[in-house]
Amino acid sequence: MSWFARGEVEQLRRDLDHERVARGAIEAEIERLHAGFDAVPVGIVLADERGKQLVRNRAAALGGHVELLVEEAVERLLASAVGGTAAEQRLTLFGPPQRVLLIRGIPLAKGGGLAVIDDLSDRARVDAVRTDFVSNISHELKTPVGALAILAEALADSDDIEVNRHLALKMVEEAHRASGTIDDLLELSRIELGGPGDREDVSLSAVVGEAAARHRLIADTVGVELQVKCISPESVQGDRLQLVSAVSNLIDNAVKYSNKGGIVTVSAHEVNGCVEIEVADTGIGIPARDLDRVFERFYRVDRARSRTTGGTGLGLAIVRHVATNHGGDVTVRSREGEGSTFTLRIPMGEGS
Ligand code: ADP
Repeated sequence: MSWFARGEVEQLRRDLDHERVARGAIEAEIERLHAGFDAVPVGIVLADERGKQLVRNRAAALGGHVELLVEEAVERLLASAVGGTAAEQRLTLFGPPQRVLLIRGIPLAKGGGLAVIDDLSDRARVDAVRTDFVSNISHELKTPVGALAILAEALADSDDIEVNRHLALKMVEEAHRASGTIDDLLELSRIELGGPGDREDVSLSAVVGEAAARHRLIADTVGVELQVKCISPESVQGDRLQLVSAVSNLIDNAVKYSNKGGIVTVSAHEVNGCVEIEVADTGIGIPARDLDRVFERFYRVDRARSRTTGGTGLGLAIVRHVATNHGGDVTVRSREGEGSTFTLRIPMGEGS
């Protein structure tokens, strides 16, 4: 016996099928919505009008020891958003690594609220580096410009021709120092902005030859022997100007930080698919504690020596940038009083 007529059963089956299809479609939409939320790079927590959290995307799950602090802020801002008031809080979490988060509570038009967690750590780091850089530049330029002002005042007050000559020569020296810093800054920003630059087949011996030629005269003048040894392979894929600049900076340092009678050797070899350009000197060397820092902008081991040799503190930062632009790196081995060897490693690239 059946409680339904045959036609009614058919209808019921059709209705159930429709409902199943409709529910499937809604579930697929919800899944798509969740996937969309998860793909957003900022943290999102959505609450209904009673403050119950409905959705929390992947970026909102911060984990670790920061979780509690963030959760507390999210709950407070969400409650305020649900109550109709927008508010925000900037959280600085001392790491390491240090993190800076901006958490905002946003009321929604139809009730409920949204908490948005924005990770500003990278931006904060870039800002800090920029501020540091600007203050370094100001300091670097202030020194020679200040000296120029003092020398010019002394010049204006002096009638003695010999004293004037001496002051004028000092002024030239300070002007060169300031323009050296500006030249290196321009070079550094050209290389930074230029990125990987033009990739072409570059002759290694031409790169090394050009870089060495720039320093031969000064090396002879200070009594340092500059030797170019075996250069192989013949070529490497890269940006010629950047490579000349990098090798030139390494040779410049090797000569600058050598004493009379010192020897600077430049060579290049292929090692495991990379060209290794080595610049070795028998100079003053670098203390072990400074080895990691010499590639930082404006870092000098000995400020006084760098000042007398006209160093800008930017040479090795330029070399490191060139290496990175070429997918390579630069390393140093050194012993105080015995000398240093810098190795610029550049992948040879396809077809080399
Ligand atoms: P600078 O213009 O002062 O030479 P660099 O960025 O080229 O700046 O180098 C940073 C610091 O690293 C230098 O001030 C110097 O103390 C040290 N340094 C670099 N190359 C050598 C080297 N070949 N021998 C000894 N010290 C070096």
